Amino acid sequence: MVKVLYSKSVVKNDVVIPLLTLYIKVYSSTNNKEGIAMRINRSQKISLFALLVLFFFPVLIHSQKINWQEVEDRTVQLFRQYLAINTCNPPGDVAAAGEFFRAIFEKEGVPVELIWTNKNTGRVNVLARLRGSGKKRPLMLLNHMDTVPVDRSGWSVDPHAALKKDGYIYGRGALDMKNFGIVQFMTTLLLKKNNIALDRDVIFLAVADEETTGTLGSAWIVRNKWEEINAEYVLDEGGFGTQGFFTKDMRLIFSVGVAEKKVLWLKLSASGPSGHGSMPLKENANFIMVQALSRVASHVTPIHITPPVAEMIRRLGKLADTPYNNALQRNTISLTVTNGFVGNPPKSNVIPGKAEAVLDCRLLPDQDQNEFVSKLKKIIDDPRVKFNYIERPIESIVSPYDTELFKVIEEETKAVFPDSITVPHLVIYGTDSRFFRRKGASCYGFFPGPVTMEEYKTIHGNDERIREDSLRTAVRIYYNVVKSFCEAKK
Ligand SMILES: [Zn+2]
Repeated sequence: MVKVLYSKSVVKNDVVIPLLTLYIKVYSSTNNKEGIAMRINRSQKISLFALLVLFFFPVLIHSQKINWQEVEDRTVQLFRQYLAINTCNPPGDVAAAGEFFRAIFEKEGVPVELIWTNKNTGRVNVLARLRGSGKKRPLMLLNHMDTVPVDRSGWSVDPHAALKKDGYIYGRGALDMKNFGIVQFMTTLLLKKNNIALDRDVIFLAVADEETTGTLGSAWIVRNKWEEINAEYVLDEGGFGTQGFFTKDMRLIFSVGVAEKKVLWLKLSASGPSGHGSMPLKENANFIMVQALSRVASHVTPIHITPPVAEMIRRLGKLADTPYNNALQRNTISLTVTNGFVGNPPKSNVIPGKAEAVLDCRLLPDQDQNEFVSKLKKIIDDPRVKFNYIERPIESIVSPYDTELFKVIEEETKAVFPDSITVPHLVIYGTDSRFFRRKGASCYGFFPGPVTMEEYKTIHGNDERIREDSLRTAVRIYYNVVKSFCEAKK
């Protein structure tokens, strides 16, 4: 079991508690016959009491406004409804999810628009906007509605039933990223319900297509709607309240994604004469490919510490020796596809004329793709192996992390988890933030609920699930972050 230190209090105690302590001390010392420490008269006592009431009053008003138990319960309820909508991509139809958001937004008076990018395939994006005074540029809450598909045979429960079991809620998208979507949704609804005056617009954007290319989702929005969005900041996926990710201990570390690695997909191919398996040929395409791949497999890319990772290490100390941390500190190469046969099912007695393999390479933000590929060619050192690009990396921008929003995230997580540490983080996979960073927005990947490495591994895998507690915690902190950051300052 995971131990989580969770304070239910949302009240900032640094002023109230010392005052209360002082009052109790004063009160008990004046009522204690032997007390010699402090004597005050009745009228002084009354003024002190009045002072306390003055301090408590706004706090009481504030905490009366939000019934957190109710909000958390509704978050769980809406999350389960949303999770149960099958939005696997492919096929990537998110029409029902878009409709889910639209209906509730409309009912609760939040201006919302559905942006269809392909009606036939159910590609829709949901844009809702709470207007502020316009003093500052907007904050956008970004989430994708689509999920990766499921391999049903690997699941112990129905992946689209949003089942509650042993403190968890199961379902495809539970951590990637319907959990983000719901806390962003609840945050927007709560700001509206509580009539919070804003210095900047809060924009809620739920998109299609993230799990493929983003073409009919974020990429489309950036191309066609950027001028009206014009957000200074974006909160997206790419960070969690992590436990056991970066260090060996289970310290709660809030990772805030500030940049991501670049995706480079390479297809290698080799050709040779085909023929009967009974008569081996020297130039067997499969042997050429296997030798090339074995050179790649034994190559170790060098460690290279980028600025966000250097800052993580500064705040956390040495990172544990894990596959996750390995990926944070170097360019990586995964062999994901091999194909070298004839027939379906493959014929065992035919030497194929062609062998192919796909390398999924992830480059650190400051690495040059051409340099990387020429190094790889040198390592393979065989002109018979041809290189083709499936996906070329686009520039990876690092968002600054000495900003007001980063500070607010740090403060609001600390208010609930005083022992936690917040760190800037290099996201090892791709997110839609890349489109918005190129428009100059500072994008942070942030989910303020605790997630263990064991749970994290279910993303894109089997039995994807989130702890119910984590979701409940996340909605509070998320709301507090957005409210503190956007609320009109007097
Ligand atoms: Zn995602």
